[in-house]
Amino acid sequence: MNGKRDYYEILGVSRNATQDEIKRAYRQLARKYHPDVSTEPDAEARFKEINEAYQVLSDPDKRAAYDRFGHAGPPGVGFDFGFRDPFEIFEEVFGVDFGFRTGRRRGPRRGADLRYDLHLRFEEAVFGCKKEIEVTRLETCPECRGSGAAPGTTPVRCGTCGGTGQVRQVQRTIFGSFVNVTTCPVCGGTGEVVATPCSRCGGQGRAHISRKLTVNIPAGVDTGTQIRLAGEGEAGERGGPPGNLYIVLDVEPHPYFRRQGDDLLVELGINVAQAALGARVTIPTLEGEEQIDIPPGTQTGAIFRLRGRGVPHLRRDGRGDLLILTRVEVPTKLTREQRELFQKLAETLGGESVVEVRQPTFLERLREALGL
Ligand SMILES: [Zn+2]
Ligand SMILES: [Zn+2]
Repeated sequence: MNGKRDYYEILGVSRNATQDEIKRAYRQLARKYHPDVSTEPDAEARFKEINEAYQVLSDPDKRAAYDRFGHAGPPGVGFDFGFRDPFEIFEEVFGVDFGFRTGRRRGPRRGADLRYDLHLRFEEAVFGCKKEIEVTRLETCPECRGSGAAPGTTPVRCGTCGGTGQVRQVQRTIFGSFVNVTTCPVCGGTGEVVATPCSRCGGQGRAHISRKLTVNIPAGVDTGTQIRLAGEGEAGERGGPPGNLYIVLDVEPHPYFRRQGDDLLVELGINVAQAALGARVTIPTLEGEEQIDIPPGTQTGAIFRLRGRGVPHLRRDGRGDLLILTRVEVPTKLTREQRELFQKLAETLGGESVVEVRQPTFLERLREALGL
């Protein structure tokens, strides 16, 4: 045995239920478990199970075979009920077409999404820009307007399936005849065939076309930001909506500004005298060079924050901050005069060895500043 649940139990009817009772039970359950409307977590599996039970019990021949042998079929022989697509059964009973489900009758289908990788310079990402790109995509064929038929001709109804897109094959077994329904192999389920295919698209209805598009890059984007151009993907099939085009950005690093989200970090080297005495120094900003005052006693790793001078927030007001990270540069080569001055300085600072107080390292301060 294959461990399947009993069909009568699945539909919740007795073994001698009438065809009407079976149909009623099916309608109730199928409506409840249709995966397009049901909120049950296992709706899809339940829906298949219900349909399978209904297919067998609603057919007197199959029902008789099932009553006699159960799921497994005759001993040593076994059988397959030849189950049809559950959605098709549902449509037949309810008289509705849920044509948007894929993998069944071929109705309209949404076009594929496309991805385009776009490289930006640092300033383009920070301030925003307009970029022209060229995209080659499948569009509705301009020659046949998507019909696939050569101009002047029209698709005709498929003779094999009579326009239904499906073919039924009767399968005879010792238990009776079962009808197998499959997608029509001639028209591929569309119900139409193109006698004279369009030469531009070969009868596909879609053709590759190159388009130039202008993309508005908003200020504040960064590497990894995606910009969605709705409807600029590939054309849909058989009247389906087009897909989207996703522009994925890759931003070049700046020679001295480092980005941390919308904050900008810039390193500033100052000399020992500037650090000790304080100084007015020139710093780079997004708007150009500017002067700031460094207070006396500035240590390596001190950070000065210029609020609102960083990168504009993406799609909202305001900007991040500009962080100036100072590094005191100790001279490695001294002129004779400088050495004398340092020696005098050393005398005034006292010669005895000092217990060294461990200062946070430059890296530690940097990490702290960035909140890492
Ligand atoms: Zn065409
Ligand atoms: Zn056909």
